[in-house]
Amino acid sequence: MDQTQYKCPNCGDVIKFAPASGEFKCDACDSVFPKATIEAMFGQDGTGNAQTAPIGQDAQPPAAGQGTGYSWQGEELEIMDGVVSYACKSCGAEVVADVNTAATKCPYCDNPIVLNANVRGVYQPQQILPFKLDKKAAINALVKHYKSCKYVPPVFNPEKRLDEVKGIYVPFWLFDSGVYADVSYEGTKVRTWSDRNYNYTETSYYNIRRQGNLYFRNIPTDASAKMEDEYMDALEPFHFQELQPFNSAYMSGFLADKFDVEVNEAFPRAQERIKNTTQDEFRKTVQGYSSVRPISSAINPANSSYRYVMLPVWILTTKYENKIYKFAVNGQTGEVAGELPLDKKKVMLHRILYTAIPAVVMSAAYWLWQAFS
Ligand SMILES: [Zn+2]
Ligand SMILES: [Zn+2]
Repeated sequence: MDQTQYKCPNCGDVIKFAPASGEFKCDACDSVFPKATIEAMFGQDGTGNAQTAPIGQDAQPPAAGQGTGYSWQGEELEIMDGVVSYACKSCGAEVVADVNTAATKCPYCDNPIVLNANVRGVYQPQQILPFKLDKKAAINALVKHYKSCKYVPPVFNPEKRLDEVKGIYVPFWLFDSGVYADVSYEGTKVRTWSDRNYNYTETSYYNIRRQGNLYFRNIPTDASAKMEDEYMDALEPFHFQELQPFNSAYMSGFLADKFDVEVNEAFPRAQERIKNTTQDEFRKTVQGYSSVRPISSAINPANSSYRYVMLPVWILTTKYENKIYKFAVNGQTGEVAGELPLDKKKVMLHRILYTAIPAVVMSAAYWLWQAFS
């Protein structure tokens, strides 16, 4: 299977992407390579085809009905039960990977490998958001997160025994979409007053209508079936202005999967978010009423477009009291998602303190009332 390994021209060891500096580095001889050098060596898409084929030539989606065999033709690629096997270019070992794998490490020699077939053609991302947090920074983000939660058991310190820390580029669809909305509400205004004999209430009813256009940019929807949507949603926001044109060299040293959720499967989720946000934004413009009730709403996304991008996520897992805890850390911002273990004693103490105090105050008031009456 066609693969790229990023070899250092000085010592032959492996070049990896270094999140902290945003450059490419050889750990063995400490050589640092700026992006332009990497592009000169490995091509603009990083798959090493710069010299042999003009960039973009095999980056066209296959014609309808042609399937996705475009760059696997002639390769000795074995697909069985959802796995592919190939020979590592560094050590020659036969490596088995999931069919969705785009970047991985050889389990025998630890060399990073990018599987070109899964980052080319229809699988070529348009953009990539390079990691900014390295492994240590991701662990620190998790530590900071659980230290800020007061119910975490004191003995829970996952940084001491993290079972697994993986830097993964997760495939995402990014949607841009215009939306035309026409929403009607019924509003009321209530006025009350009194005279010597009566209390008066006057309710006025209003028909309120709002029409207009909104434009959404970069609505992310993860395109990997094995990543839980809740985890990925909780990692937002990503700062998309830092997206780079795709180059697979950014994946060197990390893991990556190609998308396995098609764009038309993902679009309804994006549309749902667009509709909800539009509803909220329009509702905000209706003010000064005692009550507001939506009557009808037509929200139609239009001129939608999408891009296929790779976003950086650290996945950390730890075991505590025989339960596995999984955390996701935004590889750009350090935002953390995941459930922490709760110390039952601490939670109970909190409940007792906050329900017992009002009870004590009540009984003291009752006692005072009795004493003085
Ligand atoms: Zn080197
Ligand atoms: Zn190897």
